[in-house]
Amino acid sequence: MNKTFLLLLIATLSLNGQDKESQTGLSEQLYASHETFKAGFIEHRRFKHAEIMKFISELGSPLSDRKVGSSVAGKDIRMVSFGQGDETVLLWSQMHGNEPTATMALMDIFNFLRTDDDEFDELRMLISEYLTVHFIPMLNPDGADKFVRRNNQGIDINRDALRLQTPEGTTLKRMRDSLDADWGFNLHDQGRSSFIKDKSATISVLAPAYDFEKSINEKRGDAMKLIALMNENLQAFIHGQVSQYSDDFEPRAFGDNIQKWGTRTILIESGGLLHDREKQKIRRLNFMAILMALQGIATNSHEGYSIEDYFDIPKTSRGFRDVIVRNIQLPETMGGNLTDIAINFNEVENTDRTSYYLRANLVDVGDLSTSGAYLIHDASGYVVKPGKVYPEEIAELSELKVEEVHILLQDGFTDILVGTEPKMHQRKSIPMKLIRKPSVEPSRLSLGTNPSLLFYKADVLEFVLVNGYFFSPSQNWDRIVAGMKKL
Ligand SMILES: [Zn+2]
Repeated sequence: MNKTFLLLLIATLSLNGQDKESQTGLSEQLYASHETFKAGFIEHRRFKHAEIMKFISELGSPLSDRKVGSSVAGKDIRMVSFGQGDETVLLWSQMHGNEPTATMALMDIFNFLRTDDDEFDELRMLISEYLTVHFIPMLNPDGADKFVRRNNQGIDINRDALRLQTPEGTTLKRMRDSLDADWGFNLHDQGRSSFIKDKSATISVLAPAYDFEKSINEKRGDAMKLIALMNENLQAFIHGQVSQYSDDFEPRAFGDNIQKWGTRTILIESGGLLHDREKQKIRRLNFMAILMALQGIATNSHEGYSIEDYFDIPKTSRGFRDVIVRNIQLPETMGGNLTDIAINFNEVENTDRTSYYLRANLVDVGDLSTSGAYLIHDASGYVVKPGKVYPEEIAELSELKVEEVHILLQDGFTDILVGTEPKMHQRKSIPMKLIRKPSVEPSRLSLGTNPSLLFYKADVLEFVLVNGYFFSPSQNWDRIVAGMKKL
């Protein structure tokens, strides 16, 4: 590439001051265009290793890929590379098998990098000219195929950076050392309970510490500045939902050690976002933020940020709930006290863990005025009663008609006895609590149960709480089921 043209590129795309504005423009363009580059074979989190291997094998120039290791079960760990620049960047995802968000984004980034002849040509040229970027998506194929955290030895790979007893961890260590990467991106997911103030922590970031004193050398400082750049770009889309992950030094973890070994390391933890349980919006945020980070490294524009900018990112708290209902005045039969309740949804999986339904689980009762949740309802002024169990068993759930369910709900029947174990699709599409035996649950709210409650005003049933979902029984049926699916 002609040098004058390159300098022109740098002038257009880089550096401080006024150029932060053009960066914001770029991040908006990337975010807006994500759909164009989205790898369509992934639509949810429970995709398999074979699917991404097939996609990678078909990428072609200008991307290249090679096998760099094998999992315990002998599945390929492959590395995809792009660019010819002097500065080396290594990104790895899904070291924890059930943390797939960044892997989805990396597939989209591969599509982005292999496209040409659009408004992003300059960005691709810049990355290609100044950086050599290596991606190891799905470092833990065995864990990913089972959708579990650990590898097939039962080891948490992220506690194996020193002992190196896992083939997957050993692969990562070998690649970091042989590439002597200047920059490293450690890509994970965190639980939905992480939060800042009254919002979920959708993305948490960290420049991991390399010692117990949490010292900041020049390289860790560089990682902090780059994170400040990413944070600024993310704020435009998820204002107040980026947090700093705990910086306690973990001597066995990869992020901490890779920082220690001299690679400027950045941790990204994809957390929770309302109505995005399958993390497709967070995938899009990863796509934008990672490409902005590569642009920042290629142009040194992270130098326009300070370590203080990094420390301005608020720390992560834990304990955010899925649903809180406040100010429930319980009837005498349930204790007669005033209470708030918190409900979390557990993913109950099918046997091959490719699908799940959400089971509501009562996780707290009492004064929860200091707790936050994705969805908050206020029951002030309502008369509350327990949901009723329909007295007859429904032998065949498939014979139950939509209109019948609607009538049952309007009459305050929230729980029905069923003759056979409900199918997954029935669990997901019938907004009633399906029970196999007459309820033996105590009348008082107890933790671990899935409470059904009715909310009346002037003797009119206005709302029901069933399976953790709060809705009006007179609401249109399609809207009720659509609302359940969005939880
Ligand atoms: Zn993780």
